[in-house]
Amino acid sequence: MEKAVTENRNLEVVRAAFREYYFRQSKMIEIPEGIEKREFGYMPFGQGMVRHISFKGPGEVLAALVREVPSDVYCSNAYYRFPNLPMQEKQWLGADLIFDIDGKDLDLPCVPSHSYPVCSNCGHVSAPSESSDYTCPSCAGKKAEWVSIPCAKCIDGSKKEAKKLIDFLTEDLGIQRSAIRLYFSGNNGFHFHIDDESYRMLDSQARSDLVGYLSGIGLMAESIGVRKSPGGDLAYVKFPKSGLAYGWRKKIADRLKIDNTSTIRLTHLVQQKGGFSAFQSEIDAIARQAGVRIDPQVTTDVHRIFRMPGTLNSKSGLVKKRCELDSIDSFEPFSEACLLGDSRVQVQMKTHVRFKLKGESFNISKESAELPAFAAVYLLCKGLAQVA
Ligand SMILES: [Zn+2]
Ligand SMILES: [Zn+2]
Repeated sequence: MEKAVTENRNLEVVRAAFREYYFRQSKMIEIPEGIEKREFGYMPFGQGMVRHISFKGPGEVLAALVREVPSDVYCSNAYYRFPNLPMQEKQWLGADLIFDIDGKDLDLPCVPSHSYPVCSNCGHVSAPSESSDYTCPSCAGKKAEWVSIPCAKCIDGSKKEAKKLIDFLTEDLGIQRSAIRLYFSGNNGFHFHIDDESYRMLDSQARSDLVGYLSGIGLMAESIGVRKSPGGDLAYVKFPKSGLAYGWRKKIADRLKIDNTSTIRLTHLVQQKGGFSAFQSEIDAIARQAGVRIDPQVTTDVHRIFRMPGTLNSKSGLVKKRCELDSIDSFEPFSEACLLGDSRVQVQMKTHVRFKLKGESFNISKESAELPAFAAVYLLCKGLAQVA
């Protein structure tokens, strides 16, 4: 009972900060194109998803946000004739191409040092540890959710993936830079929305093939002309007729420092590696390095509702914030996407924690602290503190 009361008070504080944001910063909300053909969904605080909603215009959306103050807000990348009907009756008219790059999928070495096990049963928080074996010291529960406070390296890792994806989209797929809208996800990654009609009618399978291409999955040595000799692990080289100047062929050729004027260098390289199979492993390694790590499910699902730009992410209290392609290097999500107020909130800490928000460094080792709302909400959303 006591736990439920504390949780309600935590939610109330977070919700009040969210309400102030939606009330005062409505200019930050990006209303999608073709709004009347989109499906909207939202998560009321402490409850399940509400979906299959439609709006006639921007005013209706903003009014709903101020009225409902949801924890999370979503909008379909798809266009429908009847967006508020059940899925089978909506009549799909196409969907924007979208991509999700999530820092937690990048296997960055820094992550264990800032991931806190939060007990799924009692909410007890333990200090970061390398071990994945978990027993709650408070209730002996065996299940925990690992909550990460992304560091500067995490964000740099996501930016690197985002830049690779921008290169693929513009160079390999011929998408205009002006058609690419890039957003900080509001927690630990980046979202892409592609505003290009020629990709809108692609079905799920075509989008899945596209994900395969971008990730470099199944890239074959044959694609740059290295072929297996019959009956052995030897190889011979015959360059593709269309050359090595585009796409993956160019990426591989650049990395191996070869071009298609002479087969000698590549033939040597294959021999040096130890034959066809060993060379194929080299190609696999290049594909892993040069391919983009995107969440395949997000791109392939043509009926998804995706976090709406300009709305708050309840995993952090940060905003899904637009980032111009040209300023990705200097973009600072923990300042620019941190838009909650700074009224003072007294919290009880569940662990020691260090983080940086709005240019301010926090290093909290006390049991309780008075923090600006944006910082208190960040910790409440992460489950690392509770309202005192
Ligand atoms: Zn526990
Ligand atoms: Zn990190």
